[in-house]
Amino acid sequence: MSTNFSKNFNIGVDLGGTNIKIAVVDKCGNIIYSDSTPTEAHMGYGHTINNIINAIKNILAKNNLDISQIGGVGFGCPGMVDPEKGLVKFLPNIPGWINIDLADIIKQELGLKAGVDNDVRCAALGEYYYGAGKGYNSMVCLTVGTGVGSGIILGGKLLRGSNFSAGEIGHMILQEHGGKICGCGGTGCFETLASGPSIVEMAEKYIMGGKSAKFRELADGGEITPEIVARAASFGDEVAKTIYKITGYWIGIAITNVVNLLNPEIVIIGGGVTNAGDLLMDPIKRTVNERALKTATEKLIITTAKLGNNAGVIGASLLV
Ligand SMILES: [Zn+2]
Repeated sequence: MSTNFSKNFNIGVDLGGTNIKIAVVDKCGNIIYSDSTPTEAHMGYGHTINNIINAIKNILAKNNLDISQIGGVGFGCPGMVDPEKGLVKFLPNIPGWINIDLADIIKQELGLKAGVDNDVRCAALGEYYYGAGKGYNSMVCLTVGTGVGSGIILGGKLLRGSNFSAGEIGHMILQEHGGKICGCGGTGCFETLASGPSIVEMAEKYIMGGKSAKFRELADGGEITPEIVARAASFGDEVAKTIYKITGYWIGIAITNVVNLLNPEIVIIGGGVTNAGDLLMDPIKRTVNERALKTATEKLIITTAKLGNNAGVIGASLLV
């Protein structure tokens, strides 16, 4: 797999529920310029697409770039897509996006070719070419945030699956009995056990159970967030440390299943919760080393993502 820029620049778009990040990316994966525009999903998909088109035109004008210098536009979308048809099939957090022929609309409006894939696979592509996965041939890139997803590249090839849903690791069932109900309708899924919301839920339960914890003080009457729990842990708060230990354990169990199945060279973990650093990474590595097959872990590297929030737009720019 190699990057395939037909011109000097491509545009990468990371479509989110609240904001859309748009970047001009060069052939070497450098972001030349980036900006964001509101999604305003309640106004309908046509309005959102117009926001994107106007933002692209503004960005080009601001940077003295002509549309003829742009090879195409790639979109990372938070949901189900058909990359072969350039179709957005369904976005659970952005209402109204059902079977939208995004590539066709962009071609008509801007005269540019467009590519579409899901946002987690885009982030994986970004990390593969220009981030923590650079130089490796087989990698799994997990994104742990509100939900959990993954992008899988094996033997240099991005796996999309027969209906483009490969990588849905968040719905790997880790508890067969008595697990919590997941957004997918199932129970006991990985993301009900280890994700931003599960960290907050554990923190709230500990408080309800009467445990005194630093994160309560840090939240100062406001909402508890995974970042606050991580900060409390960095101050030595035992309850907060336990929460990250449990979260790391479950991520480690999921990765154990993945490396036993796919035997990648590297597993990259990105998303908001990785800001907790070793607090999260240590229990992950310990669990994988204890539980996975020796052949799967002998050469395995487990590390954090490098590109942060930019992975999505950089990866999206590689779709065209
Ligand atoms: Zn699920």
